Amino acid sequence: MSASDCTGRFAPSPTGQLHVGNLRTALLAWLVARSAGARFLVRVEDLDRLRVRPSVKEAQLADLRAIGLDWDGPVVRQSERMELYEDAIGRLDAEGLLYPCYCTRREIQAAASAPHGISVADRYPGTCRELTRTGRAEREAAGRPPALRVRAEGTRLSFEDRLMGRREGEPDDFVVRRNDGAPSYQLAVVVDDAAQGIGEVVRGADLVDSTPRQILLCRLLGLPVPRYAHVPLVLGPDGQRLAKRHGAVTLADRAAVGEGPGEVLGWMARSLGLAEPGEKVSAADLLPRFDPEKLPREPTVLSPEA
Ligand code: GLU
Repeated sequence: MSASDCTGRFAPSPTGQLHVGNLRTALLAWLVARSAGARFLVRVEDLDRLRVRPSVKEAQLADLRAIGLDWDGPVVRQSERMELYEDAIGRLDAEGLLYPCYCTRREIQAAASAPHGISVADRYPGTCRELTRTGRAEREAAGRPPALRVRAEGTRLSFEDRLMGRREGEPDDFVVRRNDGAPSYQLAVVVDDAAQGIGEVVRGADLVDSTPRQILLCRLLGLPVPRYAHVPLVLGPDGQRLAKRHGAVTLADRAAVGEGPGEVLGWMARSLGLAEPGEKVSAADLLPRFDPEKLPREPTVLSPEA
């Protein structure tokens, strides 16, 4: 495989500080790309205007640098790439693959839990799929701005995850443009990964269920499908996904208790079997020790004494 096929990326959403779980995922994505001699890119996923915190954008990049990661070219910010997403949405729409959806979140949940309804809570039950022109006009007149959904129509998809093995999924009619006009995460991530030539997506296991939707979009847009490795998450001592309530979880928190980025990197390296207890390492030191065939398959717990 050529290095260009292994181009990797880390794509944080600037909605909160990165915690050591996010940093460990970033480190793994970097190791996978750099150990193959490939490019590594950083993309800021800042499309959710209500949740983005501008000060967090720079802090996240500073944290990545502090643990010794580097990247090629300028950081890409999704908020500066609207035409690309609109172009993709336009192409899907021109092929009749999209429809407007006027449902509120509450209506979708109610339909999903109705006795005759679909039992999986987050799946869109297709309420607006066959709306007539009059039905649409009525909803427009009521002042509801529509989201745009893709007609996935029960396509079953499978893919081979490098860590999780064969996975299957049947995407629902998911949103490609939200009713506030913002492109959805699913749409933007697919457009960007293709535009940036990403061959290898290494990201947290919490995103594995989004992958069938993204592969479907790749197919509908005629884009190459990258390879995927969904890495296990870091958990708190209670076995739950790492979060603020677990205490000192960000670099800033760790600094406040007297631990520098080098020590956090040391913990990450030990948790990956790449360093000995007490050993001082840099990210670059880990490259020759790293074997992508031995990526972790089990979650790691960040214990208070870690
Ligand atoms: N921006 C997403 C997040 O921070 C990650 C997207 C991805 O890696 O595909 O959860």
